[in-house]
Amino acid sequence: MRGSTRQLSDLVDQARRYGVRDEAVLEAIGRVPRQQFVPRRFVSAAYDDGPLPIGEGQTISQPAMVAMMAEAARLNPHDCVLEVGAGSGYGALVLRALAGRVVTIERRLALAEKARAALAGHGLGDVTVVVGDGTLGWPEEATYDAIVVTAAGPVPPPPLLEQLAPGGRLVIPIGPRYGHQHLMRYTRRGQEDPDSPDGGGNGSPGEEYREERLTPVRFVPLIGTHGFPGRK
Ligand code: SAH
Repeated sequence: MRGSTRQLSDLVDQARRYGVRDEAVLEAIGRVPRQQFVPRRFVSAAYDDGPLPIGEGQTISQPAMVAMMAEAARLNPHDCVLEVGAGSGYGALVLRALAGRVVTIERRLALAEKARAALAGHGLGDVTVVVGDGTLGWPEEATYDAIVVTAAGPVPPPPLLEQLAPGGRLVIPIGPRYGHQHLMRYTRRGQEDPDSPDGGGNGSPGEEYREERLTPVRFVPLIGTHGFPGRK
């Protein structure tokens, strides 16, 4: 691309610098053409590792963060995944490159329509884009092996925890609307949980979910029934 020396492989290098080690995740980042998900005037910055505006006050996530979340979700090729916060559709396609089925839910109709168009015809597999309040999950296709939330909420939404399959992982930024948030992982106990030692997480036996705090992050707010109140 004229005027830009950056390319897809730079995003892979940057994800590595952020500590992402899962080769399948790095390969997915190297396959998804991010320039097709950013507004035309930002195309020259598509391979800079940063968030970019996509309209409606929202942003396409930083690729290294998309990679960290995908790694944290511990995806297997046949997994059924729910993404909350489709935005541009970019993150959903990265997840699709790693899993068997991806449904992504977006509360803003205009973004969902753009994401649908951007996601069409990629040869990386279909992604289903639905419109609604993702803090309620998407019961139609539950349960999910992984749920990835791309906006920060005050608490893990109970419907999302309930829609996890045994061994399923919920990856979500948790924290105040504006301020320090942490990427969290909630794993539903079950036979597929590889790290379910007795006393894992906060320890009390019989706890149905193991809670892990992964890394400090900064995300746009999750708006909805189990998120923050909306402004309009
Ligand atoms: N994954 C996106 C990142 C989008 S930013 C990408 O790769 O481009 C987060 C998105 O979450 C925004 O589009 C915002 O509108 C959406 N969002 C916020 N609260 C939501 C909710 N309750 N349900 C669904 N989407 C929500």
